[in-house]
Amino acid sequence: MPRPIQATIHHEALRHNIARVRASAPDARVWGVVKANAYGHGIERVFDAMRAVDGFALLDLQEAERVRALGWRGPILLLEGVFEPRDLELCSRLGLWHSVHCDEQIDMLAAHKTQVPHRVFLKLNSGMNRLGFAPQRYRAAWARLDALPQVEEISLMTHFSDADGPRGIAHQLRVFNEITLDLPGERSLGNSAAALRHAADPAVRGDWIRPGIAVYGSAPDYPEHDSAHWDLRPTMTLASRLLAVQALRAGDTVGYGSSFTATGPIRIGVVACGYADGYPRHCTTGTPVLVEGVRTQLIGRVSMDMVAVDLTPVPQAGFGSEVTLWGRAGNGALLSIDEVAHSAGTLGYELMCALAPRVPVVVAD
Ligand SMILES: *Cc1c(COP(=O)(O)O)cnc(C)c1O
Repeated sequence: MPRPIQATIHHEALRHNIARVRASAPDARVWGVVKANAYGHGIERVFDAMRAVDGFALLDLQEAERVRALGWRGPILLLEGVFEPRDLELCSRLGLWHSVHCDEQIDMLAAHKTQVPHRVFLKLNSGMNRLGFAPQRYRAAWARLDALPQVEEISLMTHFSDADGPRGIAHQLRVFNEITLDLPGERSLGNSAAALRHAADPAVRGDWIRPGIAVYGSAPDYPEHDSAHWDLRPTMTLASRLLAVQALRAGDTVGYGSSFTATGPIRIGVVACGYADGYPRHCTTGTPVLVEGVRTQLIGRVSMDMVAVDLTPVPQAGFGSEVTLWGRAGNGALLSIDEVAHSAGTLGYELMCALAPRVPVVVAD
């Protein structure tokens, strides 16, 4: 028998979340962001449930090939554009739209021989200072692209650094609107946080929103808001079982480094899940976990293959009991991946993406 750990991808939740983000910007089209192998879910595993999007956005050309291989004929956008000249051949062959964020990418396009002119998303650096043309250089880049026979259509794109926080997006939106004011072309500005928090403004919605994390059921602005606040459902469950039970007395310690010491008698369960499965090693005593759908806490350090949990609230639990590390328990109880991530000082994004290859994954409706 394999180790009892398993991840489940929930199609019903993916469908619900897509409908939910679409409702936040009803007149915009939706890029389903499936970079990083659909945030660790697996592109092939989410594809059927995500067909309701208008296009798929990703980074990796191999991932684009996988989406085409699944039979998707609609738009696919390379969010970082091409990395070298021959990538443009694949764009021509597979009909990929690509971001253009620097002069080198325009040089490559100018040298590219193609029968099929490309659709590009010209990226403005409106303040994030990651990718994109500086405001004073943006219009020159637009004019250069516009003059190329290799380019059929130019869309306008930017990305917000603080859509999830107190600084907000107004300063970047002002730059984007000023620079693009009279330029033709479709516009794409917002990720999940912008779509959920700021899309009441039609200028933020633009023509395409680019939600990633919200599709996967995480609140983009946790802990200010949780997934229940945004009516998002978990799309990934990580579950395992108890391998062993230990009865401790006062003074007994648990795990490597003896970071937990029992102050009195306590039953603990040992779970078949550790950091080699993608469970964050930074989680400490107190991190929430569900045993048989009952909320309890982690105890001691996370080791490579195991972690210990407090069985005090679930005295009936024993060998083989169900443990939910995040997601949905058999009894319907939920444990947000955001809450677990927060306990490890990170984000739901990182936990999803870090699900280890050794964990078997199943798809459920
Ligand atoms: C990853 C990414 C997104 C999606 O962001 P979320 O916060 O997951 O919604 C949108 N746009 C770009 C350019 C990205 O790289």
